[in-house]
Amino acid sequence: MPSETWRPVLGFERTHEVSDQGRVRRIGGVGEFHPWRSRYGYPKVSLRSGGARMEREVHILVAEAFIGARPPGLVVNHKNGIKTDNRPENLEWVTRAENNAHALRTGLWPLRTVVSECEACGNEIRSEPSRKQRFCSYRCRGRVQNALGIGRNARKVQGVQIA
Ligand SMILES: [Zn+2]
Repeated sequence: MPSETWRPVLGFERTHEVSDQGRVRRIGGVGEFHPWRSRYGYPKVSLRSGGARMEREVHILVAEAFIGARPPGLVVNHKNGIKTDNRPENLEWVTRAENNAHALRTGLWPLRTVVSECEACGNEIRSEPSRKQRFCSYRCRGRVQNALGIGRNARKVQGVQIA
């Protein structure tokens, strides 16, 4: 069993750590987080720090901590196609096009999957072309709409950052 390395979670450096085995825990340890599976099959955790609460996919946390902060526009690829294998050596930042091509090649997704980015938090969204979504959750949609004080015009605003 190789020893496990822990690093701070980007954005939650003072409160949370993630390991090279894809585990997440609070610093000072009140136990490990138990990720649930997102509807795309990726382990996901909910982080809370001060007033902030964020649902993050574990592979994003591992990539940010062990590979480096997300280059603009890039997404995480699981090299071996196994969504739960979140060791750093299995992850890489790639363009969405590369990731799509890889996923289709490895049979990870059904053929007609559309990938986009949540306009609030940047999480990946996969949907059927006929039902393309702009937000990963009602929470994110609500945040953007509240921040803008509107609903319909949210689409026109680029680069909205909701902490
Ligand atoms: Zn979101």
